[in-house]
Amino acid sequence: MSSEERLIRYCRIDTQSDPAHEDVTPSTAKQFDLARVLETELKELGLEDVTLDEHCYVYGRLPANTEKNVKTVGFIAHMDTAPDFSGTNVNPRIIENFDGNDIALNPEVTLKMEDFPWMRELKGKRLMVTDGTTLLGADDKAGIVSIMEALVWLKEHPEFKHGAISVGFTPDEEIGNGPKYFDVKKFNADFAYTMDGGTVRELADETFNAASALVTFKGFSIHPGEAKDRMINAALAAVKFAAMLPAHEVPEHTEGREGFIHLHNMEGDCESAKLSYILRDHDGAKLEEKKELIRKTADYINAMYGTEVCTCTLRDSYRNMKEVLDQHPQAVDTARAVMEELGLQVLNTPVRGGTDGSQITFMGLPCPNLGCGGGNFHGRYEYCVMEELEMAREVILGIIRHTAEAEA
Ligand SMILES: [Zn+2]
Repeated sequence: MSSEERLIRYCRIDTQSDPAHEDVTPSTAKQFDLARVLETELKELGLEDVTLDEHCYVYGRLPANTEKNVKTVGFIAHMDTAPDFSGTNVNPRIIENFDGNDIALNPEVTLKMEDFPWMRELKGKRLMVTDGTTLLGADDKAGIVSIMEALVWLKEHPEFKHGAISVGFTPDEEIGNGPKYFDVKKFNADFAYTMDGGTVRELADETFNAASALVTFKGFSIHPGEAKDRMINAALAAVKFAAMLPAHEVPEHTEGREGFIHLHNMEGDCESAKLSYILRDHDGAKLEEKKELIRKTADYINAMYGTEVCTCTLRDSYRNMKEVLDQHPQAVDTARAVMEELGLQVLNTPVRGGTDGSQITFMGLPCPNLGCGGGNFHGRYEYCVMEELEMAREVILGIIRHTAEAEA
């Protein structure tokens, strides 16, 4: 079976997660459909201690075949697909020798190069695309394929000496619960990689620091005709609050290492109102400043009304994994060395978001993120570059080789 056939097979299994059931893991029972397949395949590939637990986490371990004392390296990918777009009846198609022009996914839907200009650079490549009615699911089934294909290669090459290799497949990444029941102890690796990025040149060791703010407003609603000097309009207080935050520090005006405060939901009337924000910054100190700004703005609103109209609840979500990865450089250094050896121009840009690895890193397992050749995730324009998917397998094998050559 080729990478391509394997990817098609996994993509056809519907594993969409569902935020409406985020209190249960997995959020959808159908994620077990893929988990069971992977459990069986890991056993067939000779892995030991293969388990599928009640929360739909699959673990396996390929034992070392060297006497040398070497570190255990791990690889992780997620099984679910994004709730944003249908993952039912995925019908992938291969485009041979892509000509760099628009791709008609079906008679009504066209993937236009003017919308995704970077795709022109993929001219000459072999692309997997959708039929325009679903997402593809290369996020993150391409990650699973890269790991499985590396294991297949290892099985076919018993002469290749390596240390122990831990493998983990997780549910519900797309609804933010991937690491929730991830058992770092059972996984038992010295460092690991989430195979969950875009281009195979991607080596991500830096994510946002993230927090959320829920700002609530309590009004005093009375008949507008008798409201003079008495009414407190909560909706209006919320509008004032929102207008006081820096207009340029929003997602639509920031890039690179610039953080933001993003109003993602608001509701309200005269009686009560609510603003929901997410706060992001690669710099931990700057994130603290953003939290302080929210608190101070709330104080200002209260001072303005002369009574406690506004209350804010701040919550930390995840932290920039670079903080920890810099203390344990082997994971990033090894990947970088391997990618350079393979002639890949390493793309080490800070992720403007989080990865499962950022939480797993803070659970004690250093875990940068690597790409497997997919793009345009979470929608019908998703694609995967087959050459890059195969290269992702080479990156994994290179990391295993480097780790086996280094002293533990
Ligand atoms: Zn993903």
